[in-house]
Amino acid sequence: MQPLPSDVAVVRFGEIGVKSEKVRGQMLDRLADNVEAVLEDRDISGRVERRWSRILVRAASDGSDFDADAAATAAADTFGVVSTRPAVTVPPERDPIEAAAVDFATAHPEGAPFAVRATRAGPSDAHPFSSQDIEREVGTAVGNATGAPVDLDDPDVTYRLEIREEEAFVSAREYDGPGGLPVGTQGTTVLLFSGGLDSPVAAWELCKRGLEVLPVYLDLGAYGGADHLARAEETARVVGRSAPHVDMRLRVVPAGALVEELVAATDATRMLSLRRAMLRTAEAVADDIGAHSLATGESVGQKSSQTGPNLRTTDAAAGRPVYRPLLTRDKPEIVEQAREIGTFVDATMNVGCERVAPDYPETNATVEQVVAAEPDDLLEQAAALAKNRYVVE
Ligand code: ATP
Ligand code: MG
Repeated sequence: MQPLPSDVAVVRFGEIGVKSEKVRGQMLDRLADNVEAVLEDRDISGRVERRWSRILVRAASDGSDFDADAAATAAADTFGVVSTRPAVTVPPERDPIEAAAVDFATAHPEGAPFAVRATRAGPSDAHPFSSQDIEREVGTAVGNATGAPVDLDDPDVTYRLEIREEEAFVSAREYDGPGGLPVGTQGTTVLLFSGGLDSPVAAWELCKRGLEVLPVYLDLGAYGGADHLARAEETARVVGRSAPHVDMRLRVVPAGALVEELVAATDATRMLSLRRAMLRTAEAVADDIGAHSLATGESVGQKSSQTGPNLRTTDAAAGRPVYRPLLTRDKPEIVEQAREIGTFVDATMNVGCERVAPDYPETNATVEQVVAAEPDDLLEQAAALAKNRYVVE
Protein backbone atom coordinates (compact mmCIF):
# COMPACT_ATOMS: atom_id res chain seq x y z
CA MET A 1 0.00 0.00 0.00
CA GLN A 2 1.24 3.47 -0.82
CA PRO A 3 1.26 5.99 2.03
CA LEU A 4 -1.47 8.62 2.03
CA PRO A 5 -0.62 11.37 -0.40
CA SER A 6 0.27 14.44 1.62
CA ASP A 7 -2.29 17.23 1.39
CA VAL A 8 -0.32 20.09 2.92
CA ALA A 9 3.17 21.54 3.02
CA VAL A 10 3.89 22.84 6.52
CA VAL A 11 6.35 25.74 6.40
CA ARG A 12 8.30 26.54 9.55
CA PHE A 13 10.13 29.77 10.32
CA GLY A 14 12.49 30.68 13.15
CA GLU A 15 13.59 34.15 14.06
CA ILE A 16 10.35 35.78 12.95
CA GLY A 17 8.69 33.97 15.84
CA VAL A 18 10.57 35.98 18.48
CA LYS A 19 9.65 39.39 17.06
CA SER A 20 7.07 41.69 18.63
CA GLU A 21 3.51 41.02 17.57
CA LYS A 22 3.43 43.87 15.06
CA VAL A 23 6.76 43.08 13.42
CA ARG A 24 5.96 39.39 13.39
CA GLY A 25 2.69 40.06 11.59
CA GLN A 26 4.41 42.15 8.93
CA MET A 27 7.22 39.67 8.44
CA LEU A 28 4.79 36.78 8.20
CA ASP A 29 2.84 38.58 5.48
CA ARG A 30 6.06 39.11 3.60
CA LEU A 31 7.17 35.52 4.04
CA ALA A 32 3.83 34.23 2.79
CA ASP A 33 4.12 36.48 -0.29
CA ASN A 34 7.68 35.27 -0.87
CA VAL A 35 6.73 31.59 -0.61
CA GLU A 36 3.89 32.25 -3.05
CA ALA A 37 6.32 33.90 -5.48
CA VAL A 38 8.69 30.93 -5.40
CA LEU A 39 5.80 28.49 -6.02
CA GLU A 40 4.47 30.60 -8.87
CA ASP A 41 7.90 30.94 -10.44
CA ARG A 42 8.22 27.16 -10.52
CA ASP A 43 4.67 26.54 -11.75
CA ILE A 44 3.69 24.71 -8.59
CA SER A 45 0.04 25.20 -7.78
CA GLY A 46 -1.05 25.74 -4.21
CA ARG A 47 -2.77 28.19 -1.88
CA VAL A 48 -0.59 29.80 0.76
CA GLU A 49 -2.29 30.20 4.14
CA ARG A 50 -0.66 32.37 6.74
CA ARG A 51 -1.15 31.23 10.31
CA TRP A 52 0.37 32.68 13.46
CA SER A 53 3.01 30.01 13.96
CA ARG A 54 3.19 28.35 10.55
CA ILE A 55 2.59 28.93 6.89
CA LEU A 56 0.62 26.20 5.17
CA VAL A 57 0.44 25.42 1.48
CA ARG A 58 -2.64 23.48 0.41
CA ALA A 59 -4.43 22.63 -2.81
CA ALA A 60 -5.62 25.69 -4.71
CA SER A 61 -9.38 26.20 -4.80
CA ASP A 62 -9.40 25.83 -8.60
CA GLY A 63 -9.10 22.08 -8.13
CA SER A 64 -5.72 21.80 -9.86
CA ASP A 65 -3.49 18.89 -8.82
CA PHE A 66 -1.54 19.54 -5.67
CA ASP A 67 1.87 18.03 -5.07
CA ALA A 68 2.71 18.66 -1.41
CA ASP A 69 6.21 17.30 -1.81
CA ALA A 70 6.99 19.67 -4.69
CA ALA A 71 5.46 22.57 -2.74
CA ALA A 72 7.53 21.70 0.35
CA THR A 73 10.72 21.41 -1.70
CA ALA A 74 10.17 24.77 -3.38
CA ALA A 75 9.07 26.56 -0.20
CA ALA A 76 12.27 25.35 1.49
CA ASP A 77 14.22 27.53 -0.94
CA THR A 78 12.61 30.70 0.42
CA PHE A 79 14.73 32.96 2.64
CA GLY A 80 13.26 33.06 6.14
CA VAL A 81 12.05 29.46 6.02
CA VAL A 82 13.72 27.11 8.52
CA SER A 83 12.23 23.88 7.21
CA THR A 84 9.22 22.43 5.43
CA ARG A 85 7.35 19.15 5.66
CA PRO A 86 4.92 17.51 3.28
CA ALA A 87 2.22 16.25 5.64
CA VAL A 88 -1.19 14.69 6.00
CA THR A 89 -3.89 16.63 7.85
CA VAL A 90 -5.93 14.56 10.30
CA PRO A 91 -8.18 15.30 13.29
CA PRO A 92 -6.09 15.96 16.44
CA GLU A 93 -6.94 12.57 17.94
CA ARG A 94 -4.90 9.53 18.78
CA ASP A 95 -6.33 7.02 16.27
CA PRO A 96 -6.17 9.05 13.07
CA ILE A 97 -2.71 10.34 14.00
CA GLU A 98 -1.45 6.83 14.54
CA ALA A 99 -3.11 5.56 11.38
CA ALA A 100 -1.46 8.32 9.32
CA ALA A 101 1.98 7.52 10.76
CA VAL A 102 1.53 3.82 10.09
CA ASP A 103 0.46 4.70 6.57
CA PHE A 104 3.66 6.68 6.00
CA ALA A 105 5.57 3.74 7.43
CA THR A 106 4.55 1.54 4.48
CA ALA A 107 7.33 3.40 2.65
CA HIS A 108 9.81 2.92 5.51
CA PRO A 109 13.23 1.79 4.28
CA GLU A 110 13.81 -1.71 5.60
CA GLY A 111 15.38 -1.80 9.06
CA ALA A 112 16.05 1.97 9.11
CA PRO A 113 16.21 3.32 12.68
CA PHE A 114 13.44 5.80 13.36
CA ALA A 115 12.08 8.26 15.90
CA VAL A 116 8.67 9.78 16.54
CA ARG A 117 8.54 13.42 17.59
CA ALA A 118 5.37 15.14 18.73
CA THR A 119 4.65 18.78 19.44
CA ARG A 120 1.34 20.05 20.78
CA ALA A 121 -0.05 23.55 20.64
CA GLY A 122 -2.98 25.00 22.58
CA PRO A 123 -4.06 24.84 26.23
CA SER A 124 -2.58 21.98 28.26
CA ASP A 125 -5.93 20.16 28.39
CA ALA A 126 -6.53 20.51 24.63
CA HIS A 127 -5.66 16.86 24.08
CA PRO A 128 -6.25 13.85 26.36
CA PHE A 129 -2.62 12.75 25.93
CA SER A 130 0.81 14.27 26.47
CA SER A 131 3.39 14.60 23.71
CA GLN A 132 5.42 11.80 25.30
CA ASP A 133 2.35 9.52 25.46
CA ILE A 134 1.61 9.85 21.82
CA GLU A 135 5.25 9.56 20.78
CA ARG A 136 5.45 6.27 22.63
CA GLU A 137 2.20 4.88 21.25
CA VAL A 138 2.83 5.88 17.68
CA GLY A 139 6.41 4.63 18.02
CA THR A 140 5.15 1.22 19.07
CA ALA A 141 2.69 1.12 16.16
CA VAL A 142 5.35 2.12 13.60
CA GLY A 143 7.78 -0.40 15.14
CA ASN A 144 5.18 -3.16 14.83
CA ALA A 145 4.38 -2.22 11.26
CA THR A 146 7.99 -2.01 10.09
CA GLY A 147 10.04 -4.15 12.45
CA ALA A 148 12.55 -1.28 12.48
CA PRO A 149 14.41 -0.17 15.61
CA VAL A 150 13.89 3.11 17.44
CA ASP A 151 16.90 5.44 17.61
CA LEU A 152 16.08 8.75 19.21
CA ASP A 153 19.60 10.16 18.83
CA ASP A 154 20.36 9.45 15.21
CA PRO A 155 17.26 8.26 13.36
CA ASP A 156 17.19 7.76 9.58
CA VAL A 157 13.48 8.60 9.50
CA THR A 158 11.63 10.90 11.88
CA TYR A 159 7.84 10.73 12.04
CA ARG A 160 6.63 14.12 13.12
CA LEU A 161 3.28 14.73 14.75
CA GLU A 162 2.37 18.37 14.94
CA ILE A 163 -0.80 18.47 16.97
CA ARG A 164 -2.82 21.65 17.15
CA GLU A 165 -6.24 22.37 18.58
CA GLU A 166 -8.17 22.00 15.34
CA GLU A 167 -6.04 19.60 13.36
CA ALA A 168 -2.85 17.59 13.34
CA PHE A 169 -0.14 17.26 10.70
CA VAL A 170 1.72 14.01 10.32
CA SER A 171 4.86 13.83 8.22
CA ALA A 172 7.88 11.65 7.63
CA ARG A 173 10.09 13.96 5.64
CA GLU A 174 11.61 17.36 6.23
CA TYR A 175 13.46 19.79 3.95
CA ASP A 176 15.87 22.32 5.41
CA GLY A 177 15.47 25.96 4.41
CA PRO A 178 18.02 28.77 4.59
CA GLY A 179 16.49 30.32 7.75
CA GLY A 180 16.97 34.03 8.42
CA LEU A 181 14.42 36.72 7.55
CA PRO A 182 12.13 37.21 4.53
CA VAL A 183 13.71 39.13 1.65
CA GLY A 184 12.26 42.61 1.47
CA THR A 185 12.02 43.26 5.20
CA GLN A 186 15.39 45.03 5.52
CA GLY A 187 15.59 47.41 2.58
CA THR A 188 18.04 47.29 -0.31
CA THR A 189 21.80 46.96 -0.57
CA VAL A 190 23.95 47.37 -3.70
CA LEU A 191 26.36 44.45 -3.95
CA LEU A 192 29.55 44.55 -6.00
CA PHE A 193 29.15 41.29 -7.82
CA SER A 194 31.97 39.70 -9.77
CA GLY A 195 30.19 36.35 -9.94
CA GLY A 196 33.27 34.52 -8.69
CA LEU A 197 33.12 32.34 -5.64
CA ASP A 198 32.64 34.95 -2.98
CA SER A 199 30.16 37.52 -4.18
CA PRO A 200 27.33 35.05 -4.98
CA VAL A 201 27.69 33.58 -1.48
CA ALA A 202 27.67 37.14 -0.10
CA ALA A 203 24.43 37.77 -2.05
CA TRP A 204 22.91 34.66 -0.50
CA GLU A 205 23.89 35.72 3.02
CA LEU A 206 22.48 39.22 2.53
CA CYS A 207 19.18 37.85 1.18
CA LYS A 208 19.10 35.50 4.13
CA ARG A 209 19.04 38.50 6.46
CA GLY A 210 16.07 39.96 4.60
CA LEU A 211 17.87 42.41 2.31
CA GLU A 212 16.99 42.96 -1.30
CA VAL A 213 20.25 42.75 -3.23
CA LEU A 214 20.99 44.68 -6.38
CA PRO A 215 24.06 43.06 -7.99
CA VAL A 216 26.39 45.40 -9.88
CA TYR A 217 29.10 44.00 -12.16
CA LEU A 218 31.91 46.15 -13.48
CA ASP A 219 32.93 45.06 -16.92
CA LEU A 220 36.71 45.48 -16.87
CA GLY A 221 36.94 45.74 -20.68
CA ALA A 222 40.16 44.21 -21.99
CA TYR A 223 40.83 42.82 -18.51
CA GLY A 224 37.44 41.20 -18.22
CA GLY A 225 35.83 38.89 -20.71
CA ALA A 226 32.59 37.46 -22.01
CA ASP A 227 32.94 34.27 -19.97
CA HIS A 228 33.50 36.33 -16.82
CA LEU A 229 30.31 38.28 -17.47
CA ALA A 230 28.41 35.10 -18.35
CA ARG A 231 29.44 33.56 -15.05
CA ALA A 232 28.20 36.64 -13.17
CA GLU A 233 24.87 36.51 -15.02
CA GLU A 234 24.43 32.84 -14.28
CA THR A 235 25.30 33.02 -10.59
CA ALA A 236 23.07 36.08 -10.08
CA ARG A 237 20.24 34.10 -11.65
CA VAL A 238 20.82 31.15 -9.31
CA VAL A 239 20.53 33.32 -6.20
CA GLY A 240 17.56 35.18 -7.73
CA ARG A 241 15.62 31.94 -8.03
CA SER A 242 15.07 31.99 -4.28
CA ALA A 243 13.54 35.47 -4.45
CA PRO A 244 11.96 35.58 -7.91
CA HIS A 245 9.72 38.58 -7.17
CA VAL A 246 12.72 40.78 -6.39
CA ASP A 247 14.56 42.41 -9.26
CA MET A 248 17.97 40.80 -8.77
CA ARG A 249 18.97 41.00 -12.41
CA LEU A 250 22.60 41.82 -12.92
CA ARG A 251 23.45 45.47 -13.58
CA VAL A 252 26.50 45.76 -15.82
CA VAL A 253 28.68 48.86 -15.80
CA PRO A 254 31.23 49.21 -18.64
CA ALA A 255 34.46 50.23 -16.91
CA GLY A 256 37.20 49.26 -19.37
CA ALA A 257 38.54 52.79 -19.95
CA LEU A 258 38.75 53.55 -16.26
CA VAL A 259 40.67 50.33 -15.61
CA GLU A 260 43.12 51.09 -18.43
CA GLU A 261 43.76 54.49 -16.93
CA LEU A 262 44.30 52.98 -13.50
CA VAL A 263 46.72 50.38 -14.80
CA ALA A 264 48.76 53.10 -16.49
CA ALA A 265 48.72 55.51 -13.54
CA THR A 266 49.11 53.29 -10.47
CA ASP A 267 51.19 50.42 -9.25
CA ALA A 268 51.39 49.04 -5.68
CA THR A 269 48.06 50.61 -4.63
CA ARG A 270 46.23 49.88 -7.90
CA MET A 271 43.79 47.32 -6.52
CA LEU A 272 42.83 49.65 -3.73
CA SER A 273 42.03 52.41 -6.18
CA LEU A 274 40.05 49.93 -8.26
CA ARG A 275 37.99 48.86 -5.24
CA ARG A 276 37.47 52.50 -4.31
CA ALA A 277 36.24 53.21 -7.81
CA MET A 278 33.94 50.18 -7.67
CA LEU A 279 32.48 51.29 -4.36
CA ARG A 280 31.91 54.77 -5.73
CA THR A 281 30.10 53.39 -8.75
CA ALA A 282 27.97 51.26 -6.43
CA GLU A 283 27.29 54.32 -4.32
CA ALA A 284 25.96 56.22 -7.34
CA VAL A 285 23.65 53.28 -8.08
CA ALA A 286 22.57 53.30 -4.42
CA ASP A 287 21.78 57.03 -4.70
CA ASP A 288 19.61 56.31 -7.74
CA ILE A 289 17.61 53.46 -6.29
CA GLY A 290 17.50 54.53 -2.64
CA ALA A 291 19.63 51.72 -1.23
CA HIS A 292 20.94 52.21 2.30
CA SER A 293 24.24 50.34 2.00
CA LEU A 294 26.89 48.80 -0.23
CA ALA A 295 28.25 45.27 -0.01
CA THR A 296 31.14 43.15 -1.24
CA GLY A 297 32.29 39.53 -1.03
CA GLU A 298 35.54 40.41 0.70
CA SER A 299 36.97 38.67 3.74
CA VAL A 300 39.83 39.78 5.95
CA GLY A 301 43.20 38.75 4.58
CA GLN A 302 41.86 36.82 1.58
CA LYS A 303 43.83 38.98 -0.82
CA SER A 304 46.29 41.82 -0.39
CA SER A 305 43.50 44.31 -1.05
CA GLN A 306 41.60 42.77 1.86
CA THR A 307 44.01 43.28 4.74
CA GLY A 308 42.61 45.29 7.63
CA PRO A 309 44.50 48.50 6.79
CA ASN A 310 43.68 48.18 3.09
CA LEU A 311 39.96 47.68 3.70
CA ARG A 312 40.09 50.94 5.59
CA THR A 313 41.45 52.74 2.53
CA THR A 314 38.69 51.36 0.33
CA ASP A 315 35.93 52.15 2.82
CA ALA A 316 37.09 55.76 2.85
CA ALA A 317 35.76 56.12 -0.71
CA ALA A 318 32.22 55.20 0.32
CA GLY A 319 29.68 57.34 2.13
CA ARG A 320 27.46 54.41 3.02
CA PRO A 321 28.34 51.49 5.26
CA VAL A 322 29.96 48.63 3.34
CA TYR A 323 28.53 45.26 4.34
CA ARG A 324 30.93 42.33 4.08
CA PRO A 325 28.98 39.25 5.08
CA LEU A 326 31.97 36.97 4.42
CA LEU A 327 34.38 39.10 6.45
CA THR A 328 35.39 36.33 8.84
CA ARG A 329 34.76 33.28 6.69
CA ASP A 330 37.48 30.88 5.53
CA LYS A 331 37.70 30.22 1.81
CA PRO A 332 37.00 26.45 2.10
CA GLU A 333 33.76 27.26 3.95
CA ILE A 334 32.79 29.70 1.23
CA VAL A 335 33.54 27.13 -1.48
CA GLU A 336 31.44 24.54 0.31
CA GLN A 337 28.54 26.93 0.64
CA ALA A 338 28.83 27.89 -3.04
CA ARG A 339 28.44 24.21 -3.90
CA GLU A 340 25.42 23.88 -1.63
CA ILE A 341 23.57 26.87 -3.03
CA GLY A 342 24.51 26.02 -6.61
CA THR A 343 26.73 28.98 -7.48
CA PHE A 344 30.00 27.07 -7.63
CA VAL A 345 31.44 27.32 -11.11
CA ASP A 346 34.05 24.71 -11.85
CA ALA A 347 36.38 26.56 -14.13
CA THR A 348 38.73 28.90 -12.33
CA MET A 349 38.91 31.83 -14.68
CA ASN A 350 42.01 33.90 -14.69
CA VAL A 351 40.21 36.99 -15.77
CA GLY A 352 39.28 40.24 -14.14
CA CYS A 353 40.99 41.45 -11.05
CA GLU A 354 43.87 38.99 -11.15
CA ARG A 355 45.03 40.47 -14.43
CA VAL A 356 44.82 44.03 -13.18
CA ALA A 357 46.78 43.27 -10.00
CA PRO A 358 50.37 44.57 -9.74
CA ASP A 359 53.23 42.16 -9.04
CA TYR A 360 54.02 43.68 -5.66
CA PRO A 361 50.82 45.00 -4.07
CA GLU A 362 50.93 47.19 -0.98
CA THR A 363 49.42 45.37 2.01
CA ASN A 364 49.52 48.18 4.53
CA ALA A 365 48.45 51.28 2.66
CA THR A 366 47.23 54.55 4.11
CA VAL A 367 44.34 56.51 2.64
CA GLU A 368 46.73 59.39 1.84
CA GLN A 369 49.09 57.09 -0.05
CA VAL A 370 46.27 55.60 -2.14
CA VAL A 371 44.70 58.97 -2.91
CA ALA A 372 48.07 60.48 -3.86
CA ALA A 373 48.72 57.71 -6.38
CA GLU A 374 45.31 57.61 -8.07
CA PRO A 375 44.02 59.98 -10.80
CA ASP A 376 42.50 63.11 -9.21
CA ASP A 377 39.09 62.60 -10.72
CA LEU A 378 38.96 58.82 -10.24
CA LEU A 379 35.99 58.79 -7.90
CA GLU A 380 34.00 61.30 -9.98
CA GLN A 381 34.66 59.22 -13.07
CA ALA A 382 33.59 56.10 -11.21
CA ALA A 383 30.35 57.71 -10.06
CA ALA A 384 29.60 58.88 -13.60
CA LEU A 385 29.97 55.32 -14.92
CA ALA A 386 26.84 54.26 -13.04
CA LYS A 387 24.73 56.15 -15.60
CA ASN A 388 25.84 53.74 -18.31
CA ARG A 389 24.69 50.64 -16.48
CA TYR A 390 22.47 48.21 -18.30
CA VAL A 391 20.33 45.32 -17.15
CA VAL A 392 20.94 41.74 -18.15
CA GLU A 393 17.58 40.10 -18.83
P1 ATP B 1 34.64 36.95 -5.77
O1 ATP B 1 35.13 37.64 -4.54
O2 ATP B 1 33.28 37.32 -6.17
O3 ATP B 1 34.92 35.49 -5.77
P2 ATP B 1 37.07 37.38 -6.82
O4 ATP B 1 37.51 36.61 -5.64
O5 ATP B 1 37.42 37.02 -8.18
O6 ATP B 1 35.55 37.51 -6.86
P3 ATP B 1 38.17 39.57 -5.40
O7 ATP B 1 39.39 40.18 -5.88
O8 ATP B 1 38.18 38.71 -4.20
O9 ATP B 1 37.47 38.86 -6.62
O10 ATP B 1 37.13 40.71 -5.24
C1 ATP B 1 36.70 41.16 -3.99
C2 ATP B 1 35.31 41.73 -4.11
O11 ATP B 1 35.30 42.85 -5.00
C3 ATP B 1 34.31 40.77 -4.73
O12 ATP B 1 33.78 39.90 -3.76
C4 ATP B 1 33.28 41.72 -5.26
O13 ATP B 1 32.44 42.18 -4.22
C5 ATP B 1 34.12 42.87 -5.77
N1 ATP B 1 34.46 42.71 -7.19
C6 ATP B 1 35.58 42.19 -7.73
N2 ATP B 1 35.55 42.23 -9.08
C7 ATP B 1 34.39 42.82 -9.42
C8 ATP B 1 33.75 43.18 -10.65
N3 ATP B 1 34.32 42.93 -11.83
N4 ATP B 1 32.54 43.75 -10.60
C9 ATP B 1 31.94 44.00 -9.42
N5 ATP B 1 32.49 43.71 -8.25
C10 ATP B 1 33.69 43.12 -8.22
MG1 MG C 1 37.24 37.05 -3.48
